[in-house]
Amino acid sequence: MKNRIAIVVHGGAGGDSGFIRMHRDEYYKGLERSIRRAYRVMYNGGCAVDAVEIAVASLENNELFNAGRGSALNHLGHMEMDAAIMDGSNMKAGAVSLVNNVKHPISLARAVMEKTSHVYISGHGTTELARSCQLDLAGESYFITSHQEDELKKAQVSEFMDDLLRKKTHGTVGAVAMDLNGNIAAGTSTGGSVNCLPGRIGDSCIIGSGCYANNRICAVSGTGDGEYLITGVIAHSIAASIHYERLSAQDACDKVIFTDNAHVDGDLGVICISPSGDIGIAFNTERMPRAWIDTSGKLHTGIYKEEY
Ligand code: ASP
Repeated sequence: MKNRIAIVVHGGAGGDSGFIRMHRDEYYKGLERSIRRAYRVMYNGGCAVDAVEIAVASLENNELFNAGRGSALNHLGHMEMDAAIMDGSNMKAGAVSLVNNVKHPISLARAVMEKTSHVYISGHGTTELARSCQLDLAGESYFITSHQEDELKKAQVSEFMDDLLRKKTHGTVGAVAMDLNGNIAAGTSTGGSVNCLPGRIGDSCIIGSGCYANNRICAVSGTGDGEYLITGVIAHSIAASIHYERLSAQDACDKVIFTDNAHVDGDLGVICISPSGDIGIAFNTERMPRAWIDTSGKLHTGIYKEEY
């Protein structure tokens, strides 16, 4: 019998690096751990929102990925994390930005969605909300890794502001899921881009750009150069292509990334799931670590383009 559940996770689109090649096996293990945990939750009756939160939280714990522990550092050497979650069954969403001491920004985004009457909380308000929801907090030393300190040093060799704004290394994690009731959800969490200006907010926490879910259409999580995902309204454009042009999830992802945004001189990556469990994955970069379990229950993982 087919399990009518399906899930996709990603670990950020971008260029290949020696660090990724060196830790290749650990990337696969991290993706697999995240997706298996989340799948088990839905298999046992948990909802798509639970699965998305669990998948993303697992990757936030993993310092290889640029979210939670292991987040990128801004120009001043601090981390400012963004996250969003959206429940396609009721079109509710929660988003947080400029988070600097909450271990799981994705859980904080869920708290915004479920425990407040707001959609978006930023900056100092995030600490207060996390405290009142009894979410785990940690000091900066918990989040900062030597790898991200090295990345910042490398990015700062240029003294020119132009280069500083143009040369972006980044990463993100995200998940989309369909549960036993046919409900879908999306979640995205990021440390943003290395050496960015303090206060910079990316697409991951912007509903319709790096995160979107609507039970009638699809759920999408995005990654890449956030500025382009914001201006291209990427997640919602995929939903619009499925809704108005009747494209499959894969065709809609391909169209939005490779045709509609072919002019973009930046990194773009997306994962998508439809309410029937149809899966779409597309990225214009060398790598996008990813894993998916389709409705037949089969697990797939990949980092580079050729691994389909
Ligand atoms: N989109 C994220 C941001 O711009 C980074 C990434 O996905 O790599 O903040």
